[in-house]
Amino acid sequence: MPNIDDLRRILKRIDGRSYNAYHEIRGEFELDAFRLCVDHVQGDPFASPSKLRLRVDQSFAQLPAELFDNSVRRLAFEDHLARRVRRAARDCARSGGERKGSGKSGVVLVDAGGQEVLKRTAIVVTSEWVEVRLEVGLPANGRKILGREAEKLLCERLFAIARASLVQPPADAARHFVDCIENQEAIRDQLSSLGLIAFVADGSRLPRESGASDRPLAAQNVVAFESPESLRVEIDLLRPVEIGGALRSSIEGLGVREGVTLIVGGGYHGKSTLLDAIERGVYPHIPGDGREWVVSDRGLVKIRAEDGRRVEKVDIDAFIRNLPQGRSTTAFESDDASGSTSQAASLVEALEAGASGLLLDEDTSATNFMVRDARMQALIQKQHEPITPFVERVRELHESLSVSTVLVMGGCGDYFDTADTVIALRDYRPLDVTEEARAIAANASSSRQMEAANPVGEVAQRIPLQGSIDASRGRKRVSIRTRSLDQIEFGREEIDLRGVEQLVDRSQTRAIAAAIHFAAERLIDCDRTLRDVLDRLDTLFDERGLDELDPFYRVGQHPGNYPRPRRFELAAAINRLRSLQVRQSEKRDSQRGPTRKTARR
Ligand code: ADP
Ligand code: MG
Repeated sequence: MPNIDDLRRILKRIDGRSYNAYHEIRGEFELDAFRLCVDHVQGDPFASPSKLRLRVDQSFAQLPAELFDNSVRRLAFEDHLARRVRRAARDCARSGGERKGSGKSGVVLVDAGGQEVLKRTAIVVTSEWVEVRLEVGLPANGRKILGREAEKLLCERLFAIARASLVQPPADAARHFVDCIENQEAIRDQLSSLGLIAFVADGSRLPRESGASDRPLAAQNVVAFESPESLRVEIDLLRPVEIGGALRSSIEGLGVREGVTLIVGGGYHGKSTLLDAIERGVYPHIPGDGREWVVSDRGLVKIRAEDGRRVEKVDIDAFIRNLPQGRSTTAFESDDASGSTSQAASLVEALEAGASGLLLDEDTSATNFMVRDARMQALIQKQHEPITPFVERVRELHESLSVSTVLVMGGCGDYFDTADTVIALRDYRPLDVTEEARAIAANASSSRQMEAANPVGEVAQRIPLQGSIDASRGRKRVSIRTRSLDQIEFGREEIDLRGVEQLVDRSQTRAIAAAIHFAAERLIDCDRTLRDVLDRLDTLFDERGLDELDPFYRVGQHPGNYPRPRRFELAAAINRLRSLQVRQSEKRDSQRGPTRKTARR
């Protein structure tokens, strides 16, 4: 195999030539225990950076096997290493002076995460080697290759970064990270046997720095979470871990039980902040996040109103029927759904994808979807109101479909009758006010009538039609771009994910875009339901990871940067594709049980 001196020679030779000559460096180069693989060379200094991999032999890296001896620990350790590489790259950039050259010349990127810890393709650890997948801007001045700069970057700096981050990293920090994530996942695995859908540990710091930042609010301003005694549970940890300065083998906090949980309290007392933490709790968090011991069931889905979204043949009949002009609500379609119809559709779509629980916040809900009080019932008779509000369905969803709900509702007491648990937030402190709310409901009846005519049925499964998901654009067979966390350009369509609140990482959005294309090419046929497609993607991710998602992936090469998305956000993106066409399956979903397990996995 060529070694790094061969690479130096090529770079000297192509110095000053036009950018195309960089193609000569494609290939693999060895340096002692390292191997540098140049898989993809960018077209010009302003294009997406080149894709390189750097592999280090375990004989040299000596990563302790106990940090990756099961799939959860491996996921955590790989995530941890990606963060180390990112830090080393930044340190190196800082100490090495400014980047020279045009455009992206000299950048070194690794797809490491934010506050959440996700399965990602950026790092692979095996017993033989560790490999980081990098994006590197090959240096040029205009379109002229800066060979000397390239040599410093590729033959020196990259290796320095790998040495600083991947070779014998401090074991204590890595072990703490891995143990912490493994324990979070162990709690998540226990939730359902404890009858819980979420757990919020005492001492958690829930509020974020700002609406634009996911980082924790400075500690001195935070009221630490403290569960009310009546709702407190203690959960054993898988292995002892340091929490708040002490080594602990169990952890206490609020257990959010299956069923209907209402979060009430005055404005600005922390209701939405608690719900947001539960929403994000479907993912593990890094130590120090403040929410690392907020752990939610993997199947919880945030549902909100999103007027203007597209809806394709969703059966929203349980919530909305008898629309003006005889419009169908068993196969409701709209290019411009209203607040209530969009929220109903998102809810049914979440059930279709296998959600185990729903999270709703009054702040982001359509009022008429949530409530219809006695006075309104008196003024607008039922035959003129298509909506059966959620207040009439929330118990039924639990009792007939085993779907739990956590609902933030500070403005309407009609929900008291429906709740198993009522939590009030006062000055950011949760109180158990279930009994009080019950007593109020008993003494001061809301006098509203139940009006629902039909029971909530099983969810209609839909079959996406081949050809309605098409990533091509002009002469390009595949044209997929993610503009931001919540914007995908898919072929000729834009997918707007602003209403999909549990997406956490822009690269996750990119993975979703690639997965939709992957599904369209390989999974969608004339009779496969959307849920089956999601099951198959989950199985693929479980068994083979995300390396194969990239439409241009070549075996053994840089796979692109893909953290794992959840099935719910994947489904949400497919459902928001404006070209999507489906037909409803004759078979209704009679097998909620097994697929719910899939979602919990
Ligand atoms: P609500 O939904 O009840 O109106 P929010 O959850 O939006 O209230 O919280 C209001 C403000 O209080 C936010 O700026 C939030 O960051 C802050 N906050 C929430 N919880 C805490 C806490 N435990 N300690 C300090 N500040 C908090
Ligand atoms: Mg709020």
